[in-house]
Amino acid sequence: MPIPLSPRQILETLVAFPTVSRDTNLPLVDWVEDYLSALGISSVRIPNAEGTKAAIYASTGPEVEGGVILSGHTDVVPVDGQDWTSDPWTLTERDGKLFGRGAVDMKGFDALALAAMALAKQRGVKRPLQIALSYDEELGLVGCADMIASMVAGLPKAGAVIVGEPSSMSVVTGHKGSAGFRVHVKGFEVHSSILHRGVNAIMEAARIVDWANAMNARNRTKPPTPLATLFDPPWTSLHVGKIRGGTAHNITAGDCDFLFEFRVVPGEDLESWVRRFEERVAEVEADMKAVRPEAGMTLDRYFTAPPLVPEEGGAAEALARRLTGDTGRHVVSYGTEAGHFQAAGFSTVVCGPGDIAQAHQADEYITVEQFEAGWNFMERLVGDLCA
Ligand SMILES: [Zn+2]
Repeated sequence: MPIPLSPRQILETLVAFPTVSRDTNLPLVDWVEDYLSALGISSVRIPNAEGTKAAIYASTGPEVEGGVILSGHTDVVPVDGQDWTSDPWTLTERDGKLFGRGAVDMKGFDALALAAMALAKQRGVKRPLQIALSYDEELGLVGCADMIASMVAGLPKAGAVIVGEPSSMSVVTGHKGSAGFRVHVKGFEVHSSILHRGVNAIMEAARIVDWANAMNARNRTKPPTPLATLFDPPWTSLHVGKIRGGTAHNITAGDCDFLFEFRVVPGEDLESWVRRFEERVAEVEADMKAVRPEAGMTLDRYFTAPPLVPEEGGAAEALARRLTGDTGRHVVSYGTEAGHFQAAGFSTVVCGPGDIAQAHQADEYITVEQFEAGWNFMERLVGDLCA
């Protein structure tokens, strides 16, 4: 096919790579690298520790500050057990909708961003356009931190970051921060008739679960800050979504595992919540060890998503509002890589085509109308970078 490819052709190509988060994304990254190279744009790839996946970023235009980063992720959620009308790995148009896994979350935006890179190169932008594609976003925003650090070190600093998660092209300036822990509780098994000589991992885990209940009860009665009122719920929530442990009714449980997460409203400090959690765990653990020194709790922090805090007079917000005409105030309840970019010192918003409601579903789609709205945005953005 002659290059540059159309946004639609790029989307067809990207969807055809089955980049489920548990699998490699390297064939897709190879293709992106080759495609950019064919356009005369060099790129940098940041592999994971095992070398099985990579993030990739690139820049076109002069090496000056004040450019714009378009941020997307390459991975998609699985299709296991979902009932699809057409092949999820073949972009298929029906009734003005483009169906395919990742069509909206978020290969649609990735395709538009790659097409925008070609346009920026061709038009000769005066400030750089940069693209940043991560991996393992769907596993808890794992794959973007090294990439962002490398971009900070290796490129002139961009003036704005647009994270293209589906927002129906509205300008999203805030989301909650979150962190997730796998908790393992190691108890000590004895017959339950002499439970005071053992440590029941389930009952100790329950003390942490109940601490979460108590914090939620307290948080929901606190008057929310004006910023927090934008969210539903307008308070920081603590949640245990999965728990497993024990062997029989008359044995103190030797093990219990559970998954714990925070969703913190912007304005409250995610890390101070994490510290309070660790303190509570330490208290419970001390009680356990007083009975059996080998008992205890271990925490494995498996994801961190800093909040996106609305900026006062932020450059990214001003840019995205100018390009979309959106003047509304929007926050979202899902986490994105925007918080990581903002934490690294970039002015950042979320703005991308399509509706998050179609993400992760069977028959995931982006409407042709939203895809075209996304391209309109890219054309205006490149125009802006040429001015
Ligand atoms: Zn996504």
